[in-house]
Amino acid sequence: MQLDQIQFKCNLFFEPIIKITTLKTLPVSNGNVSNSFQFTLNSDQRQLLSKSSQIDGHPIYQIRFFCSKLNHSLNNLLVEFPPVCEIRLNGNTISAATLRVLKNKPGTVNPPDITIMTRKKDTNRVELVYGSINQSYIAGIFIVKRTPIQAIINEIKKRRISKESILKELQERQENEQDIALQSQTLSMKCPLAFSRIKIPIRSIHCQHLQCFDANTFLLMNEQRPTWTCPVCNIKIESYNHLMLDGYFMEILKNTPKHIESVNVEPNGHIVIIDEHPSLPENQEDTDSDEQEEKDVPAIVELSDDDDNLSIPSSPKSTQQQPASATVDLISSDEEDGQEEIDPYPINLPTHVIPFPPEIMSSALSYK
Ligand SMILES: [Zn+2]
Repeated sequence: MQLDQIQFKCNLFFEPIIKITTLKTLPVSNGNVSNSFQFTLNSDQRQLLSKSSQIDGHPIYQIRFFCSKLNHSLNNLLVEFPPVCEIRLNGNTISAATLRVLKNKPGTVNPPDITIMTRKKDTNRVELVYGSINQSYIAGIFIVKRTPIQAIINEIKKRRISKESILKELQERQENEQDIALQSQTLSMKCPLAFSRIKIPIRSIHCQHLQCFDANTFLLMNEQRPTWTCPVCNIKIESYNHLMLDGYFMEILKNTPKHIESVNVEPNGHIVIIDEHPSLPENQEDTDSDEQEEKDVPAIVELSDDDDNLSIPSSPKSTQQQPASATVDLISSDEEDGQEEIDPYPINLPTHVIPFPPEIMSSALSYK
């Protein structure tokens, strides 16, 4: 096998572009073994390493230590270090804990960034010390070119699925499953990863749920620990090309005050806002409601008239009470490119606390 032809699997956040040591095999062993690598940066490489990204101000290039199990393939080797090992460089040590894969899955650890430990002009001697292994590994050091998260987000934003196509799918599902009583589902406005309000709602094109997660948080976490699984349904996200911006969730975020943590989505796509903190200033004052009696009766406020037959009743069960929740009509603007036609805010915000089921995430209903 030609070791020089070996290529590590491309990482979304950085790709190895210059090999600065030869690739070495780590032979099978029964005890501790030390393997040495050596490199001196030339002036071109030093210049590269001094460049900063205009997008996030951080260096564009880094030096990273790659290692993988040696198998029969030459390409797409997943990063994985011997189970017991450490890297030593110029008096610094990278411990085994940092180099460990997650749940025995190769590729769930990053090749460590050794840039700041590197001597810019002198010779660098790197030692990889490892315990017993029953399969050979291969290791080497590369200069990698980084892609800032913002640049990745900009790409994902180009893959925006419109609110109209998502509503169309919901509608088709409702028509196909007329005999089955479809239930509403709760969507959390909070990212399941960061527990803060989602800013850029994304999910995989293969996800069967409407719940989104935040692009920035998801990418930051995967930059640290590349697991690439959906935080809602746990499916593997094989490529970042499968991530899409959800135009429907975007509209919901735009149309709900910031203190609203969740909404209910009716099977036909109507949104009912759940307000757990109705006294917050973003709410309008409720002047004449009888708070004691109507807590269990969510009322619906249509923001605009429906043109189609998906309309749900627009009046509360009791006509005497102020609504305890409000419906945002995201449906009726689906002619032409109607995304901007929606009222920016619901006209009547809830003033009652609605009992709220804790299983926000698990209640995500598929809409396929
Ligand atoms: Zn999912």
